[in-house]
Amino acid sequence: MADVHDVIIVGGGPAGLTAAIYAARANLSPLVIEGFAAGGQLVLTTDVENYPGFPEGIQGPALMQMFRSQAERFGAAVVTEDVTRVDLSERPLRVWVDQQEHRGNSIIISTGAMARWLDLPSEQRLRGFGVSTCATCDGFFFKDRPMVVVGGGDSAMEEALFLARMASHVTIVHRRDEFRASAIMASRAMASEKISVRWNAVVEEVLGDEVVEAVLVRDVVTGELEDIPTAAVFVAIGHDPVTGLFRGQLELDDAGYVVTDGTRTSVEGVFAGGDVQDTVYRQAITAAGSGCMAAMDAERWLEDQAANRASADSVLAAQRDG
Ligand code: NAP
Repeated sequence: MADVHDVIIVGGGPAGLTAAIYAARANLSPLVIEGFAAGGQLVLTTDVENYPGFPEGIQGPALMQMFRSQAERFGAAVVTEDVTRVDLSERPLRVWVDQQEHRGNSIIISTGAMARWLDLPSEQRLRGFGVSTCATCDGFFFKDRPMVVVGGGDSAMEEALFLARMASHVTIVHRRDEFRASAIMASRAMASEKISVRWNAVVEEVLGDEVVEAVLVRDVVTGELEDIPTAAVFVAIGHDPVTGLFRGQLELDDAGYVVTDGTRTSVEGVFAGGDVQDTVYRQAITAAGSGCMAAMDAERWLEDQAANRASADSVLAAQRDG
């Protein structure tokens, strides 16, 4: 039978590794199953310039390596495997990596979210060279140059509005003739002099040898092809939380995000931090913050469980002696 860990952390991005630092320092010897996507979305970015404490910026993978080393320094065990199954219906809680079972008194879920991509080979080739899914992270690199945002939801409006502060011009490419975005976000974007919309258009290719130079779009009504010159393409067609493992075992919202109250989930002893439960901020620093909160909540919950057990034991002992 597998040992029972106090805390098992599933996912090794900023939330999971911050939870690991706090849990390890609270002597809970956490096991972090970081997954093959270790480091999370930050390892997909190049320079991170908005993480406090790094005035010159830092490379995303280097930052995540520092998080990991810090967690390991305090005794967190980090394994680079993907969790394949969980059972949250029994105590201890159970987590499998293929045939190997891990048991935990508490679990912190920090499996994150993945940006949706257009799935074009040229998009993948130029990722990090002008193609991005994060305006906050990468917009600044294309200051005073034209930029394209793909999508028609609130994320696309938000990205376009953010980029309009620094771009020479922003073109939103949307596949329909009306936005999915909320009226307020859409009207803010439409009110910007720097933002225009290419309606009814889909991106067929991202053009450029080493860096993005243009996008080739196809008008879905006329079939006409057109190049839009641009220095960057921000794909903002939504995110998917990584919660397939927990479906049917935890309360998830309609979009699949873990429903939390603070960091508590619908199952006692199971906590969640980071993008897997955050539909609003989705930043490395906010993920790290909620990972810290999840670890502190788990620690307090474990303490309460131990205190309840001790008081139940003393009642039993008193009954036996009396
Ligand atoms: P979303 O609402 O699902 O919108 C995704 C957009 O991308 C849609 O316009 C969709 O087009 C388009 N799209 C999807 N797949 C595409 C593809 N393969 N090719 C081209 N276009 C594609 O996602 P979101 O904008 O990320 O928003 C997610 C949730 O977070 C929403 O509830 C939103 O309100 C919320 N949010 C709120 C704020 C805010 O209030 N500040 C900011 C960001 C997000 P169609 O419209 O044709 O389907």
